[in-house]
Amino acid sequence: MTEYTKSLINTLEKNRTLTESEYLSLIDGYTPDAAKYAGELALKAKKAFYGDAVFIRGLIEISNICKNDCKYCGIRKSNRNCDRYRLTREDILSCCSHGYRLGFRTFVLQGGEDGYYTDDVLCPLINEIKSRFPDCAVTLSLGERSKESYLALYEAGADRYLLRHETATKEHYELLHPTSLSFDERMRCLFDLKEIGYQVGCGFMVGSPGQESRHLARDLKFVEEFSPQMCGIGPFIPHKDTEYSSFTAGSVELTCYLLSLIRLIKPTILLPATTALGTLRENGREMGILAGANVVMPNLSPEEAKAKYTLYNNKLTSGAESAEALETLKSRMKAIGAEIVCARGDAL
Ligand code: SAM
Repeated sequence: MTEYTKSLINTLEKNRTLTESEYLSLIDGYTPDAAKYAGELALKAKKAFYGDAVFIRGLIEISNICKNDCKYCGIRKSNRNCDRYRLTREDILSCCSHGYRLGFRTFVLQGGEDGYYTDDVLCPLINEIKSRFPDCAVTLSLGERSKESYLALYEAGADRYLLRHETATKEHYELLHPTSLSFDERMRCLFDLKEIGYQVGCGFMVGSPGQESRHLARDLKFVEEFSPQMCGIGPFIPHKDTEYSSFTAGSVELTCYLLSLIRLIKPTILLPATTALGTLRENGREMGILAGANVVMPNLSPEEAKAKYTLYNNKLTSGAESAEALETLKSRMKAIGAEIVCARGDAL
């Protein structure tokens, strides 16, 4: 690590802000010892607010039907090999009951942009979840919707919304998506969600096709300025039925370094160690937590759905990834000095 990189990490810890070109120097200055140094400061920053706590979220993948055709995604509309499914209201409620018994106090309803889930379907469902489990938070991750729809879902009881911005650089966004999707619309959604009052999560993939350091520098600046309550970042992993099938996956090490930098930008942020990290590396989740992440999202979906929600090759569905294996996850976290906490885990 150069003295300059070290001084930038120190400045970030102290001021919580850098210029975009300083972020670029930090990214280009990545070395294992820079990552180790940033990781130590990130852990300290996390502990100051959250101690050793790691929050769990029960992930329910409600549908893999999607009207969009994001070029990197395994459930994209044009993938004819994708075996489509949609959970019913009863399926989702029973996932919640099961998750509640296991100790989950946040349910994340994630899915493709499936036209079936209109506000008329979702609002009563959210209402029902909140009335059956009043001490739980509901997080939605259902893609782009109108402001009116976000408002209706919020009024029905949804607390949080995850919508990764994917990349904060317009041209890069346009490379990764078909012309029917626009960078401006993605941003519009994020700002509307924030204005409505959701706890909002943005995020991006590391190592996505065409990504350069300057794109990541802009992502960090965007996270700093947008100041979300949550941020989901994970390595890009190719999917066999996409045009990026032969691309290389993103780096686990760089992802962990970026997790540390994000923790330094915003010490109170809720930062998941994502499934993609755990998919690429057996101890990827632990590496993420040690780099400054403080959330894990075990999968509560029915077994059949888990197998079909394949965003990328070899996506983890079992082991410590599955909600049933909570005890395994607890002991794995304990082994690295972290403690799984069964609470809503709202942002501070
Ligand atoms: N449809 C919703 C949306 O657009 O936000 C939520 C579901 S979407 C499948 C969830 C996230 O999966 C995306 O934001 C994207 O970052 C991630 N993802 C999709 N394909 C991926 C891949 N090949 N590798 C890593 N992450 C991927």
